[in-house]
Amino acid sequence: MSLKDLNVSGKKVLVRVDFNVPLDADKKVTDDTRISKAAPTIIYLLEQGAAVILMSHLGRPQKKKLEDGSVDKAANTLAPVIPVLQDYVGCQVQFVEDTIGEEAQAAVAALEPGQILLLENTRFYSGEEKGDEDLAKAMAALGDLYVNDAFGAAHREHASTATVARFFDPTQRAFGLLIEAELAGAEQLLNNPAHPVTAIVGGAKVSDKILLLEKLLDFADNIIIGGAMAYTFSLAQGGKVGKSLVERDKTDKALDLLKKAEANGTKIYLPVDTTVGKDFSNETPREIVPAGEIGDEWEGLDIGPESVKIFSAVIAESKSILWNGPMGVFEMKNFAIGTNAIANAVAKATQENGAYSLIGGGDSVSAINQAGLADKVSFVSTGGGAMLELLEGKVLPGIAAIRG
Ligand code: AMP
Repeated sequence: MSLKDLNVSGKKVLVRVDFNVPLDADKKVTDDTRISKAAPTIIYLLEQGAAVILMSHLGRPQKKKLEDGSVDKAANTLAPVIPVLQDYVGCQVQFVEDTIGEEAQAAVAALEPGQILLLENTRFYSGEEKGDEDLAKAMAALGDLYVNDAFGAAHREHASTATVARFFDPTQRAFGLLIEAELAGAEQLLNNPAHPVTAIVGGAKVSDKILLLEKLLDFADNIIIGGAMAYTFSLAQGGKVGKSLVERDKTDKALDLLKKAEANGTKIYLPVDTTVGKDFSNETPREIVPAGEIGDEWEGLDIGPESVKIFSAVIAESKSILWNGPMGVFEMKNFAIGTNAIANAVAKATQENGAYSLIGGGDSVSAINQAGLADKVSFVSTGGGAMLELLEGKVLPGIAAIRG
């Protein structure tokens, strides 16, 4: 059911958002993208006369407990989100230091249309990550309607993302505007994309992206491979990779993929040159060497300029582009050159050739933001793992639970 089809006026709407934002040592939000992306649904609900009850997780409180076995509430409270959220929605946000229970029930009972209540971190309850029925039932009792807008957590079968939805009739639950947009973005690529389709896949490990790469063989015309992943392919082809990050046990998978791509007519572009460093630091001496010729004392940290040229030309010819994973260690300025060049090529193809471009995956999102080009591409996904699984063709529990 679409959010706009729900009659929310005068109702208490329980909304699962993704406020799992990074915080600094002073508990200040350092990247508020997720809060900003949740705001349109919240504002829409307020404008329609709903009372909005927000729930989210933050961090991993069950993983790092205090000595007495309890969760560290001070370290993982959602309270730091409140001032940022208030700025985005333009009104006061009430807060209750529990997710369920009497205090939460009383705060919900007192909530008026046009008001917002933020519940405390769902992961303070151990049942959250287990998808616990009783916890989900207690959450569900707080709202007349349920809206899931937490795309970043949609691949988790948790109490607040999946189980809770089952306590609402299909006519009482819907996706929020962010999830609707994320699904539309992925569908645009997966169903009937304009060709040629080019996927740019980078990042640290082949093992994290192998399912995506296999799925891409179904619909991509070109697959560009960069990042440390490329060294596993290079090694598989008999290249020398020096001290580069590489998965020696994944060379068979890499060769298998190259073989499947050839049989399938999908073109795979691997780097032809590599920017190498003596060690893993920004200031380390660096050189450009042909791919597969990395000396024993060196490690690959970025794609080289020839690769940038070849990759950019492929991108310029593309009508649909998916980018997941950086071309190098873009967190270090001297090794961000390849990633920034690819960000520019994607933005240019979007702006000048009308290509549809989707940036999916946490680190490529940081890279496009770092390059200042987020508003020059078609869609920037908020969900790294969730978008990856969606593109791999998996059914996400948070999506399935709403669809029923
Ligand atoms: P992923 O989460 O798999 O997309 O990987 C992103 C991470 O891969 C980033 O933190 C990059 O710094 C890292 N990465 C990309 N290229 C390299 C490389 N050549 N060597 C080491 N790490 C890399």
